[in-house]
Amino acid sequence: MNFHSMSATELGTTRDELTTLYSDLQAAGLKLDLTRGKPAPDQLDLSNGLLSLPGDDYRDGAGTDCRNYGGLAGLPELREIFGELIAVPASQLIAANNSSLQLMYDLTSYAILHGTPDSDGPWGQQKVKFLCPAPGYDRHFSVCEALGIEMIAVEMLPNGPDVDACAALIAEDPSIKGLWAVPTYSNPTGVTFSEDVVKALVEMDAPADFRIYWDNAYAVHTLADTTPTPYPILEMAAAAGNPNRPYVFASTSKITFAGSGVSFFGSSDANVAWQQKYAAFSSIGPDKVNQLRHLKFFGDADGVRAHMARHRELLAPKFKLVSDILNDRLGASKVASWTDPEGGYFVSLDVIDGTAGRVIELAKDAGIALTAAGSTYPYKRDPYDRNIRLAPTFPGLDELGTAMDGVATCVLLAAADKLLA
Ligand code: PLP
Repeated sequence: MNFHSMSATELGTTRDELTTLYSDLQAAGLKLDLTRGKPAPDQLDLSNGLLSLPGDDYRDGAGTDCRNYGGLAGLPELREIFGELIAVPASQLIAANNSSLQLMYDLTSYAILHGTPDSDGPWGQQKVKFLCPAPGYDRHFSVCEALGIEMIAVEMLPNGPDVDACAALIAEDPSIKGLWAVPTYSNPTGVTFSEDVVKALVEMDAPADFRIYWDNAYAVHTLADTTPTPYPILEMAAAAGNPNRPYVFASTSKITFAGSGVSFFGSSDANVAWQQKYAAFSSIGPDKVNQLRHLKFFGDADGVRAHMARHRELLAPKFKLVSDILNDRLGASKVASWTDPEGGYFVSLDVIDGTAGRVIELAKDAGIALTAAGSTYPYKRDPYDRNIRLAPTFPGLDELGTAMDGVATCVLLAAADKLLA
């Protein structure tokens, strides 16, 4: 029943029932974890073929001995495959080591130490701020925090970041030099950007060294029958006269092995040359044997798509279970709303304002770990105390069901407490 239309007496009775339910939950001695946006072991098993590759043939199509130093830009054939999947010409795409987050951190560090090709000087000698669509990915925000970049939250709307707000903030403050963006199946909201939003982002007035960190981490991670066509953002930005604005990122972390994948960076020729110049100081070349493994494992872009269909078979039942439990337990109460994503790794749950922290605490005391309160906002400060990121991929179906049922109890109890206060 709708909590908002209950009388105080009805709500009091409901709270008593929920308190009993919660005591039972605590007594069950659970130890469950919904914090980890990681592939489950059965997903990792899908890529076990990598463990016996590349075999004795350690040369790529051009004859390069992948065991040796060199080739800082990564294997051209692998760049072709992923370039097709994320709409970046292979000549403008770098294949690197296992973490795209490291590429994001490194590029930001280079700008702080040296300035971008379009900067007046090092960012480290100026006040630099980034726009942070929120709810967003906590590790993007941690990069800013670690490197002393001030963060400004902007609202994440159903079709992407609030571009009007972004443009207005930039117009007022030239120290805004960056924007985080997860264009496909965003973390944690599952939002895929609309074409209008993308066009506005590449066209809006901004300083010459303003950069969009286009983190297409979930480009091919669909739970539906089709995957969104990637926007050719580099082409769109060039057509808008801002060729150096986007930095495109992707990785195979949630395609093959999260700890042993391949990451990618794509941008304008000028930006790629700039990245390669500074990357060359810290590495004589990436792990090309791992890149060759991936090349042989997939063969082509369709090989990646077919592989993602197998991930989908494992993941879709988990996302459906979360949706079913949330609908069943919380639907009528109207004290929460949540996303039903068509891809990606997360479900974003919004509870009554002022109760997210309490829900997370209640869950913790019942042995269910949820992502820390506020994590989806810059500085871990959710101004509404509303958003909770759920990560359904890692637990098995039974564990996931138990955990979600427990979370629902915590949401209802916190809501009843709040409404009676
Ligand atoms: N970007 C987003 C949006 C993510 O959600 C994640 C992992 O959860 C990453 C990047 C991390 O990528 P990588 O493993 O390539 O560093």
